[in-house]
Amino acid sequence: MTKLIAGNWKMHGTADSLAEIEAVATFAEKYAGAVDVALCVPATLIHRAADKVPGFAIGAQDMHHNAKGAHTGDISAAMLHDAGASLVIVGHSERREAHREEDAAVRAKAEAGLAAGLKVILCVGESLDVREAGREIAVVSAQVDASLPKGEVDPARLAVAYEPIWAIGTGKVASTGDIEAMHAAIRERLVAAYGEAGAAVRILYGGSVKAENAAEIFAVPEVGGALVGGASLKAADFLPIVEAGAQ
Ligand code: PEP
Repeated sequence: MTKLIAGNWKMHGTADSLAEIEAVATFAEKYAGAVDVALCVPATLIHRAADKVPGFAIGAQDMHHNAKGAHTGDISAAMLHDAGASLVIVGHSERREAHREEDAAVRAKAEAGLAAGLKVILCVGESLDVREAGREIAVVSAQVDASLPKGEVDPARLAVAYEPIWAIGTGKVASTGDIEAMHAAIRERLVAAYGEAGAAVRILYGGSVKAENAAEIFAVPEVGGALVGGASLKAADFLPIVEAGAQ
């Protein structure tokens, strides 16, 4: 399975960052076919980034589940698509926590994103409290069951990102054994939901992935790539992760 390495820029980046995007796109082109690469940039940069690097996957970080309407400040999947995005992250823990997004809302977004022609990266992950209580597999499995889009899916257009909340932006990384156990549990839920197609959906790991740990994480069974925050902001930090994903 070709790995997907997606950067999540969060609320970072203005026009001066377009050069970083261009550097990543140029590098990714050399590895076309060996690894899929995407950058999920702030909404304000999507159009300019897509114009600058046509053919490279530019993504968004969130969207509203409705196609249009009285939703001040929100952006629909069709608008993201129109701006040049080809994918969208939904259910990131920073949205689930700071914006109180529940699984049902995440599912609605995932369904609307797919319906509008976007690829979707759907995030799940447990808090430190849950892990310390030994409930991480049960909690994340329930999140997956309740957040996955209903009906049939094209596995090339959906990825699930396992992102333990305590590992995001902290420098702490889940152990390879913990990643393997969680990815196996998520795979089981995907197959239960989609049958054969569920076996082909990529499961990404996210949480303090960097050049130094990427190869070890990518060697774990059922790791289909990474969602990368901090280390995706500079091409110099991100490119070695892309390279590890191509091996
Ligand atoms: C993320 O925001 O999805 C993430 C994984 O961040 P970081 O790589 O900085 O931990």
